[in-house]
Amino acid sequence: MPAFTYQRCTSLSEATGLLERQEGIMPMAGGTDLLVGLRSGKFNAAVVLDIKEIPELKVLEEGRRGITIGAAVPLNEIINFAPVRQHIPLLVQACRSIGTYSIRNRATLGGNLCNASPAADTAPALYCLGALVNVAGPRNLRTVPVEEFITGPGKTALQKGELLVSVTIPKPYPVGKGVYLKASRTGSVDLSSVGVALQKWGKEVRIALGAVAPTPIRATSVEKAVNQEALTDWYRAADRVKIDIAPISDLRGSREYRYHLAEVLVRRGLEQVMEV
Ligand SMILES: Cc1cc2nc3c(=O)[nH]c(=O)nc-3n(C[C@H](O)[C@H](O)[C@H](O)COP(=O)(O)OP(=O)(O)OC[C@H]3O[C@@H](n4cnc5c(N)ncnc54)[C@H](O)[C@@H]3O)c2cc1C
Repeated sequence: MPAFTYQRCTSLSEATGLLERQEGIMPMAGGTDLLVGLRSGKFNAAVVLDIKEIPELKVLEEGRRGITIGAAVPLNEIINFAPVRQHIPLLVQACRSIGTYSIRNRATLGGNLCNASPAADTAPALYCLGALVNVAGPRNLRTVPVEEFITGPGKTALQKGELLVSVTIPKPYPVGKGVYLKASRTGSVDLSSVGVALQKWGKEVRIALGAVAPTPIRATSVEKAVNQEALTDWYRAADRVKIDIAPISDLRGSREYRYHLAEVLVRRGLEQVMEV
């Protein structure tokens, strides 16, 4: 692995200041993407800034606005947090689908979003839950709707000097079932070939997919078919997903296979969340 300087930071203002001033600096939460990327040459960092001990990034709480998950909270803590299990089990399923138990002891929700993989497993669930991304810069704080946060493969809405501080799942929480369905090459540890999150909200449904476009996306055509046209033939509704997605061929599946998988998983998901 190329040499880099490791620096630990315990305050948000110090971290954003360093990120703004210093060239070649990259924040590290769990390091499960960053260190792999540094070793493979995908990333190049002169300084790795450890952000795990910044208090604002370690928050995990339910408050008046909803559930707030600090960017440095490991996935296993999120999975075991009672308000998450009670109100948004969809997110529990999505977090659990990532890596192994030991990876989930280090990997964070913040890192999963900031890595901005089109296949990031938490993103489709967060899209369905209407999550808000809380961002801090050297001089201001701002909130970005999660659907505007990942802007392309490996690209986010973060500006120079900014850190993702936390993600808020706002109230009201969804009423109805949610499922995350993931197809991957192996039954154990692998990124998604296609990932589909569905969340019922009263009589309506929200659907989002990963690994079928340059960013995770909402299946708005399928949602329209179900929510506005009241289509209850799930085969016909799921067929509309072809309008929403633009998959590519890569080592995790061909374009054609992904079209097929997306349709099958959306149909299975509709059966599971709409027929209870
Ligand atoms: C064996 C293995 C299996 C995996 N399986 C899956 C899987 O099934 N599904 C999946 O989606 N992913 C998977 N991953 C990828 C990875 O574990 C996840 O994306 C994880 O959530 C990343 O979190 P992290 O805290 O380790 O991020 P890090 O590696 O610390 O950071 C990732 C990127 O985000 C940046 N960053 C981190 N935190 C912040 C912040 N707060 N503000 C700004 N930038 C930040 C870093 O600079 C880096 O560019 C796997 C990885 C491994 C090694």
